[in-house]
Amino acid sequence: MYPQIEIDLKKIGENAKVMLHQCKAHGVVPCAVTKVVCADKKVATELVENGFKQLADSRIENIIKLREYFGQKIETLLLRLPMLSDCEKVVQYCDISLNSELATLKELDKHAKRQKKTHKVIIMVDLGDLREGIWPNEVLTLKDELKKLNNIEVLGLGTNLTCYGGVIPTNETLSKLIELKEKWEVDKDKLHLISGGNSSSINIMTSKDMPQEVNHLRLGESLFLGRETVARKHIVDTNLDAFKVKAEIIEVKKKPSIPIGTIGQDAFGETPTFEDKGEHLRAIAAIGRQDIALSMEPLQKGVEIIGGSSDHLLLDVDEKTNLKVGDIVEFIPGYGALLAAMTSPYVRKVYK
Ligand SMILES: *Cc1c(COP(=O)(O)O)cnc(C)c1O
Repeated sequence: MYPQIEIDLKKIGENAKVMLHQCKAHGVVPCAVTKVVCADKKVATELVENGFKQLADSRIENIIKLREYFGQKIETLLLRLPMLSDCEKVVQYCDISLNSELATLKELDKHAKRQKKTHKVIIMVDLGDLREGIWPNEVLTLKDELKKLNNIEVLGLGTNLTCYGGVIPTNETLSKLIELKEKWEVDKDKLHLISGGNSSSINIMTSKDMPQEVNHLRLGESLFLGRETVARKHIVDTNLDAFKVKAEIIEVKKKPSIPIGTIGQDAFGETPTFEDKGEHLRAIAAIGRQDIALSMEPLQKGVEIIGGSSDHLLLDVDEKTNLKVGDIVEFIPGYGALLAAMTSPYVRKVYK
């Protein structure tokens, strides 16, 4: 049955080992971020068996699954700032959550008190990427407010970079977090954890340019796709092909490279442009934007993705490929494609 995503658990396990080893050499204990695989049980098990003790996800639904699979054997971390309406569950199922809003922290405190728990939090600081986080100059004011919340324990400070703004982690940027830690600790309130970002912090870590106080990273893409995320360079010793998307060809025909007729908008409201390359052999694979993103790399030589609609992937193919109806084409998914494939109920998950 196609389309499929083939998941090579052994390769994921190898990547997990490599990343844990690299982090350890730099005094970092990372968590594994499972959101791109929707907290898939077999994948998460592979991560745990290879040494990850903390699993992180952006969705409470996925955290609840992880708790069911592993009980108290792992620590759970909620990545997306909690919704007020979720705080009761967050306290129930998450050991740690990332936070930036006092109103949410108060709600978490209220539920932690009711559940007779201490809920641990990491305060997110916006160092310029402009996604989540409080401004650096507001950190100490928040600290004063947090002293009133008896059931909240602040583990440390964190930041998220290279997501919305594409800001690259540098020593200068991450040092701002360390300055804040030092200011926080003047009256002996220790912060044990400095969470210095995601897979985009791997370069600065391995080049020893990361401030030493950074002792935690949150790793997703690097674990699964074997790449850091500043320049998407391959991380030495990791597998780039732990996931393969497979789709079946349903048409192969020679067609002109420019559509015939007056060109308006395509299926997604965009106005397409075309380059005239004369007649070309094209194939259609039975997979579309409901299943994947177009950010995939064909594994076969002579196959190129030229477009896609909800259910069709259009390929320019070299005559030498001999592709015919019924053949299977394979792709290495990028992050967006992996996220879509794991989320789409139409894509079969096949474990290797
Ligand atoms: C998704 C996410 C991560 C993981 O990012 P990768 O680039 O996949 O390593 C880390 N932190 C937060 C807050 C996230 O939302």
